[in-house]
Amino acid sequence: MPSSPTPLRSSSSISTSSSWPSASTQTSIHEQTPPIIRVAIVGGGLGGLTLAQILHCAPNVQVTVYERSIDEIERLSGYRVMLSSFVLKKLQATLHKDVWDRVAASIGVQPQCGQELTFFKSDGRKMLAFEADEIRDTYSVNRWLLRNALLYGSHDFAIFGKTFQAYENLPNGGMMVHFNDGSRVECDLLVGADGIGSRVRKQLVPDARITEPWLAIIYFKIPLTPVTENLLLTQSMTRAFCHRNQNIFIHSWTNPRKHWATLYDEYDIGMDESFIMFGYGSPCDEFSNKSKPPGELSSEELKVECLERVRADPKMHPSFIALAEQLIINTAHIHIVRDCKAIKRWNSGSVTLIGDSVFSISTVLGKGANCAMLDAIDLAEALQLPQIFNPSIRSHELQQAGARNVKRRLKERQRGALIQNIIYSGNNKMKELCRDLGLKLAFEWIDDPRATNFHSGKKRCPEKVERS
Ligand SMILES: Cc1cc2nc3c(=O)[nH]c(=O)nc-3n(C[C@H](O)[C@H](O)[C@H](O)COP(=O)(O)OP(=O)(O)OC[C@H]3O[C@@H](n4cnc5c(N)ncnc54)[C@H](O)[C@@H]3O)c2cc1C
Repeated sequence: MPSSPTPLRSSSSISTSSSWPSASTQTSIHEQTPPIIRVAIVGGGLGGLTLAQILHCAPNVQVTVYERSIDEIERLSGYRVMLSSFVLKKLQATLHKDVWDRVAASIGVQPQCGQELTFFKSDGRKMLAFEADEIRDTYSVNRWLLRNALLYGSHDFAIFGKTFQAYENLPNGGMMVHFNDGSRVECDLLVGADGIGSRVRKQLVPDARITEPWLAIIYFKIPLTPVTENLLLTQSMTRAFCHRNQNIFIHSWTNPRKHWATLYDEYDIGMDESFIMFGYGSPCDEFSNKSKPPGELSSEELKVECLERVRADPKMHPSFIALAEQLIINTAHIHIVRDCKAIKRWNSGSVTLIGDSVFSISTVLGKGANCAMLDAIDLAEALQLPQIFNPSIRSHELQQAGARNVKRRLKERQRGALIQNIIYSGNNKMKELCRDLGLKLAFEWIDDPRATNFHSGKKRCPEKVERS
């Protein structure tokens, strides 16, 4: 639980008058006014906003987020994200209560015995269920509500429509941050939280490269109604292997305050209406519509693509076809999977990275947002240490935070990449057989060593996350 949080501050525009004091000036400045660290965060995604929310309440930090999009809520926010109970408890302990209460409201109804991930053939035959603690103890969270929660009070600390261009080291140890519109701002620490295509990373670690896209996942929402709920093969995550190296991923988010969706039509659905997320993944070259690159297909074309695929698979279970017919057109989102070279370390005296800007993690095990938020919490803790004004301690602490960040991401990246490569490995009978055998072994390998009852069918009801 949060330890009596300080109230949200009322203003925090970056001032250029007080620079990060050097060790020699510490005492005199401290005697007059408490020293302040000016932190500029590039990117208002889940990582950047989490960091800003925590630092905004810290007495020794002045924080500003610079986000390139003009809209505070982007399309992807409409879907669900899986967050572990560990991350949610950390958020509960570190966020201001007003923010946490809103985060808690974004958590969907949890199945009785937690979440599980079940694999099927496209004809509905069950293959295997991954029921390890790490899946069971995750919660389906509405991205839009979560983002709204993290934006609470953000007019005090976030500026939208600002695109970072470059930074410059200043002789006083600070940083000058330059934006596309020609404006600039001085800060003591620049945090790159600008996602997989990070410009901050490009300048900090120029040889970190992004790979060519090879995989694309189409996402849609379906309203959760008594009819559509009946079409679900499980109450939790379902993944079905279809022909031509394609697979369907289904999972729902149920609003605890309103179980059934009522505000929707063929084109749109209310942002906090209960929904079923329908994902259709395939290698880019397996798209039926080859008239343009997958990323350029319109919402209507993406729906047609999904419908053609389910109807073209001769073995497709009728429930998957019926669900695809209910896809709400304007909720279409295509995620083009790109990979980024894993960077091991960076010189983090005045510039550091969090979240996907460090390097990406496959979405298949749903760990990217969990890692981004843990990176943010960890960095925020380091920045609130009383000794942080000492430059050598600051440099050491930031280096340590960076090393922990890389360690947790590397582990999740390897596990996610293994499962992703197995899932998308088969486009002939032999490869499909290897995939089916390999998948079970891979899940056993990545499973928590303590969870010895994998596949035993025994279920343990997990600890509940308190909403307030
Ligand atoms: C479909 C899908 C499903 C997923 N499901 C899960 C899940 O279930 N669980 C999970 O843990 N993870 C999941 N992930 C991964 C997760 O969403 C990401 O890892 C996470 O959002 C990364 O957060 P971030 O803050 O590092 O980056 P982002 O969320 O990418 O935010 C980066 C921000 O920086 C801004 N930006 C970029 N460049 C600039 C610039 N030059 N100047 C200013 N601003 C800039 C962008 O506009 C953006 O707002 C999923 C991802 C996808 C695509």
